[in-house]
Amino acid sequence: MSILDTATKVFELVKKAGNIEAQELVMTLRGEVVELQAINNAQASELQGLKRKSEIASQLEFDPPYYWLEKNEDRDGPFCQLCYDKDEKLIRLQKWGQSGRWKCLSCTSIVTDKSYVFPKLRSRIYLNLDNQARQ
Ligand SMILES: [Zn+2]
Repeated sequence: MSILDTATKVFELVKKAGNIEAQELVMTLRGEVVELQAINNAQASELQGLKRKSEIASQLEFDPPYYWLEKNEDRDGPFCQLCYDKDEKLIRLQKWGQSGRWKCLSCTSIVTDKSYVFPKLRSRIYLNLDNQARQ
């Protein structure tokens, strides 16, 4: 039986006894119990959120320019560094154009990782490969 059920039963008993002052006190007590339960529920929800954030933070690895979630042997991501650092949101990055180029569809930032080859450099690499092929 919950504390509210108990308060309701006490109210019914006091009502039967016909004591108006006791009925008002029980109703006040019942209101305070409802208020305390709401505060308790909000705190339990906040605690659950903090536990979840803490669990995520312990699994998060920053490998510039993005984050990865590491669970056991699995690696999930990459996730946007800006969105996580600013709002603690894990927003999955999308491959954007050439290999090594990523876009966050939430904050619209575009990042490049170690595998990205800048276009100017890419044309030199292809030119070198072409020259090597001709020799
Ligand atoms: Zn973002």
